[in-house]
Amino acid sequence: MRYLLLFLTTLSLQAHTISNYKAINSCVQFGQKEYFAIRSFQFDSRNSLLVVDANTLKTGVVPAKDAVANNCSQEILDSRYRKLLKYILSKRHHLQNDGIVSNANGVTITTDLCPSSKSGFEERLYLALIKNFPNPVPVTLFITKRWIEKHISAFEKLQKWDREGKLNITWGNHTALHIYHPKVPLNKNFVLSPEEHLEKDVLDLEIELLKRGALPSVFFRFPGLISDKNVIERVTRLGLITIGTNTWLAKGSKVQKNSIILVHGNKNEPKGVDIFLEELHKGAISTPVSILQLIPMR
Ligand SMILES: [Zn+2]
Repeated sequence: MRYLLLFLTTLSLQAHTISNYKAINSCVQFGQKEYFAIRSFQFDSRNSLLVVDANTLKTGVVPAKDAVANNCSQEILDSRYRKLLKYILSKRHHLQNDGIVSNANGVTITTDLCPSSKSGFEERLYLALIKNFPNPVPVTLFITKRWIEKHISAFEKLQKWDREGKLNITWGNHTALHIYHPKVPLNKNFVLSPEEHLEKDVLDLEIELLKRGALPSVFFRFPGLISDKNVIERVTRLGLITIGTNTWLAKGSKVQKNSIILVHGNKNEPKGVDIFLEELHKGAISTPVSILQLIPMR
């Protein structure tokens, strides 16, 4: 998988052209290994695939000509990735906070970058992570296209910390648009709004990341944490693992050893970051693990 990541990072300082971006669902052989291929597209006019290592959950971009289509083996069908997707579908669905909300493997830090009119970002949060934990610090950024477009220099700073080995960023999908209507009931709001085109909204965010040299992951968080059975099934069909939270700090929850912590990196909820930094300085947050090490508590 190392090669795959290099394929992107060596090109990451220039803007890329992404076209013909489509969701697919197949297995391919690349090198000595079998992967799920979840997207096909032209990356700077080369036919390419976004593939998933079904055991590590890492993604990579590979040239389509070097990936041989094969029938999915029983091993890949029984993989950790597939089990996580099936687990999400098998759960009883809730309007709020569906998906995987805890990590038995340790504290997992997720920071949401929903659209925001605030300039800048919660730099103090990321700097505190870099200062207080062994580098690179694993952190998941559930990001939106609307935030990126208004905060290019913040996005590039985050990418730079990732490249320099200070942060180990997993780019999570929080949709491109993050539709929200104040005062509308939750069951008709966010992705449940009538104008939502969910598949497009999800894929558009991935395209935006790839254009800017960032690698989309298989992790997804619903805007507002609002979903129903239908949208959960559609996101799962796109090959994405829905992540909720058991520790939304600004709402008063306490850090536990299996916490998936939610704070906002966009300055929309400074209270959560204040609490995070207090807990950090008290030593109440143990060394975080990557979301790739996700094991839900049952
Ligand atoms: Zn959000």
